Amino acid sequence: PMSEADVMETHRICVCVRKRPLNRQEVIRKDIDVVSIPGRGSLLVHEPKQKVDLTKYLENQVFQFDYSFDETATNELVYKFTAKPLVHAAFEGSMATCFAYGQTGSGKTHTMGGDFRGKLQNSTNGIYFLAAQEVFSLLNHRKYSKLNVSPYVSFFEIYNGKVFDLLNEKAKLRVLEDDKQQVQVVGLEEVFVTKTDDVIKLLEMGSACRTSGQTSANANSSRSHAILQVTLRHNDRAASLYSKFSLVDLAGNERGTDVNSNDRNTLVETAEINCSLLALKECIRSLGKNSDHIPFRMSTLTKVLRDSFIGEKSKTCMIAMVSPSMTSCDYTLNTLRYADRVK
Ligand code: ADP
Ligand code: MG
Repeated sequence: PMSEADVMETHRICVCVRKRPLNRQEVIRKDIDVVSIPGRGSLLVHEPKQKVDLTKYLENQVFQFDYSFDETATNELVYKFTAKPLVHAAFEGSMATCFAYGQTGSGKTHTMGGDFRGKLQNSTNGIYFLAAQEVFSLLNHRKYSKLNVSPYVSFFEIYNGKVFDLLNEKAKLRVLEDDKQQVQVVGLEEVFVTKTDDVIKLLEMGSACRTSGQTSANANSSRSHAILQVTLRHNDRAASLYSKFSLVDLAGNERGTDVNSNDRNTLVETAEINCSLLALKECIRSLGKNSDHIPFRMSTLTKVLRDSFIGEKSKTCMIAMVSPSMTSCDYTLNTLRYADRVK
């Protein structure tokens, strides 16, 4: 039922859900799969712990999104229905943004293809790689040859409301807003790229920079937002901006519910993540309602992505990742409710 034709005709906001398979540890501890994808766009969460009557269960636990991907879906398939239309939109001049949202371990980095700890091969078939490939193939396309633009890559992370440049030894950067409400990340590295491999090398470098100094490789990355931006600039006209395409691997949303910690750092982090994810929800909702007021100043994340929420040609896709396991059920429902509110 899903055809290429309906994919390319995108609406401004697309909200999808992706369920990962049960992993080995979950299988070993006999965890149960409580998430089903019964049809296009729909998702069902069943809680076997509770004896729920069917009417309540249908009312409360069935969700409907633009697309839903089950555990058999490949990154290529997910890409085709989420980021691919956005890359095409960017070539038509849109500010396009794709978010990976969900609890830590739900598959955000897997989907983006940002796990560079293992073999490179595993990382190259995610959205980062596929989108980069598409950018270069479109640049050579007859349709866009007259466009005369070049791609530049930035890669940075937002941790505790601060911006760190992953392409420049994690330099801490300031975010400034001028009197025309234009937001600028001062000194952000922008690297001219000529092929997919250039982008992957930058991602590898940035990812190494991201985790260095961290005791556990996943510790920091689950608490920060990672943003890869491909900016298309005019070759003449003083390299002025044509469009921007952003891929965002968001911080794990489970910290939003982690309020029992006594550790001050954790509390600050939690507050910051809560704030930015709330701001993001509000900004996407405003975009969907064509509202004049976009509350982008609510967080650093939404500030640096201001261009993504403003203007007639902005397009956004959110992929909500969920774990299938019963033990993650509460987190899964949180994720689904959030995604449901964004639509
Ligand atoms: P997150 O970035 O949300 O914390 P990861 O992407 O790191 O989660 O995923 C956690 C683990 O689950 C990784 O080992 C990853 O390879 C695996 N995984 C995630 N999604 C899938 C999937 N769709 N298919 C197979 N393995 C997956
Ligand atoms: Mg991750």
